[in-house]
Amino acid sequence: MNRRGLCLVLAAPSGAGKSSVGRALLATDPSIALSVSATTRAPRPGEVDGVHYHFRSHAEFEAMIGRDELLEHAHVFGRRYGTPRAPVLAALEAGRDVLFDIDWQGHRQLRASLGDDVVGIFLLPPSVGELRRRLEARQQDVPAEIERRMQAARDEIVHWDEFGHVLVNRDFDSTVVAVRTILAAARLARARQPWLPGFVGALMRE
Ligand code: GDP
Ligand code: ADP
Ligand code: 5GP
Repeated sequence: MNRRGLCLVLAAPSGAGKSSVGRALLATDPSIALSVSATTRAPRPGEVDGVHYHFRSHAEFEAMIGRDELLEHAHVFGRRYGTPRAPVLAALEAGRDVLFDIDWQGHRQLRASLGDDVVGIFLLPPSVGELRRRLEARQQDVPAEIERRMQAARDEIVHWDEFGHVLVNRDFDSTVVAVRTILAAARLARARQPWLPGFVGALMRE
């Protein structure tokens, strides 16, 4: 297989369903690798260092930037988040697609460095009330953090039109099917099948 992997970015206001949709995708498609971000926020109950995030101090995060180890980084909700560069480039080279759960700033930076290798999907909640309900139902953030995320939701949503694909995450299963469909179509783009010119050349010579 000489197909170069692509970068599938899922972005959305917190609580819209990025992580759940991403999990469903990874569970059924072993060819997708998840980009594990570095962050300065504290682990939530059950979150494991190196699995959900690389949990780092501010000093360690700054050092990673200094060594140019991050493909992109941003401030989100007053914390630092960033994408380690090496695992992403290794996966792409190996022909694996990489899933990113990052914000609009990260998507913009990835587009700047990786261009058409980036397929961006933005998830919208069906309503602001439903977004709050989901953040509360998740039971992973204290009320002050939920307020902070609700305040930040509008700042994320205004960037919806920077993404090539936009889905309203109303019915979960339908959203997952739609994301799989977008990925399947992106994999079939002409530019992602570098073997085609040779194949067509052989066809024409037959
Ligand atoms: P959740 O998505 O609400 O579960 O919250 P997280 O704590 O997992 O993510 C917080 C914010 O950081 C979200 O807006 C993410 O999209 C963003 N984020 C996560 N990882 C990255 C990353 O690697 N790069 C960038 N730029 N943003 C990220
Ligand atoms: P994010 O990663 O974007 O912050 P999560 O994936 O953690 O969001 O989802 C937030 C909460 O909403 C979770 O409890 C999740 O189970 C729930 N959820 C996600 N998608 C839907 C949906 N389509 N309908 C109802 N609940 C959903
Ligand atoms: P959470 O704290 O809920 O895990 O994540 C909060 C937000 O940070 C989410 O919107 C998530 O997508 C974003 N985020 C997580 N990792 C990164 C990252 O590496 N880079 C950027 N830019 N955003 C990230």
